[in-house]
Amino acid sequence: MTCKGEATIFDPQCDTIFFLQPHSDDIALSCGATAAGFAAAGRDTRIITVFVGETVPEMVGPFAEWKHSRWSLHDVDAVRETRRQEDIEAAAVLGCALRWLGLPDAIYRGDRYKRDEELFGELSDEELALADHLVEELEGLPEWRRDSMVFVPLGIGAHVDHQILFETGALLAARGYAVFAYEDTPYIIHSPEGRAARLAQVGDAVGEPFSHGVAGTMDAKLDAISRYRSQLPVIFRFTDDYRAAVQRYACEVGNGTPAERFWPVRST
Ligand SMILES: [Zn+2]
Repeated sequence: MTCKGEATIFDPQCDTIFFLQPHSDDIALSCGATAAGFAAAGRDTRIITVFVGETVPEMVGPFAEWKHSRWSLHDVDAVRETRRQEDIEAAAVLGCALRWLGLPDAIYRGDRYKRDEELFGELSDEELALADHLVEELEGLPEWRRDSMVFVPLGIGAHVDHQILFETGALLAARGYAVFAYEDTPYIIHSPEGRAARLAQVGDAVGEPFSHGVAGTMDAKLDAISRYRSQLPVIFRFTDDYRAAVQRYACEVGNGTPAERFWPVRST
C-alpha cells in the first residue's frame, strides 16, 4: 500500500535520543519509523524498555497467568526470554541501542492489578511515585546526557504503565529536557476515541501536536513490529492484516503520506 502527500520533518538538535517504552513492542508500534529515521541519520538513538524486570513464579497470580495463556507462553522464564528476544530483534531492525530496566510489569506488581479494568484505569499515589523513582534511575544511566531528547507514551488507552511513563516525561520536562509524547498504538487504531479522553485528562501538560513524516522508514517499522511474534495475535486481534492497518493509520496521520504524531510535553 502506498500513499502520497506531505508531512513535516522534525529534526532534533541533539545527539542522544531516548525512546522510553513501558513494554517491549510499544516503540516499534507507536513511533518505530521515527526512531529508525533518527538512527539512520546517525543520531545516538536508544530504546529503554522499562517494565521488564525479573519475575519469579510467586509473582504470577491468576490475572498474569491468563495474560500468559493469551500469549501462548506458560511459564515466567519463557515469557521473559521470548519477550526479550523479540525486543532485541526489533531494536536491531530499527538501528537502536536497547536497555531493559528492572521494574516489573503492572501485572506482576503484587495484587494491585487483578482485572483489565484496573490495569486500564486510574493511577494510585503509590504507583505515581514510580515516576520519581524512574527519573532518578534514568539520570543515573551511564549513557544518559543532560541534553538528551526523550520520547514517552501519551497514555492513550489508559494502561497504568503507560501513564507512569507519561508522568516520568512530565517530570523530565520540568527538569529542562525536551520531551515528546507519542501516540500509543494499537490503542489509537482500535479505539481512536481514547485520544480525546486522554488529552482531556492531561490538559495543559502537552502542547499542540505535530506529524513527523516517516515515508523512508515505514518498512523498518513494519519489520520491527513483525518481530514481536508472541504479541501479534493479541495486539492485532481486531484485524487480519496488521500491516495494512498500520500503514493506513500512518497515512491518515500524515494526511496522505506516512507519518507519526507527537505532542511536546510542557515543562510546567
Ligand atoms: Zn505497553
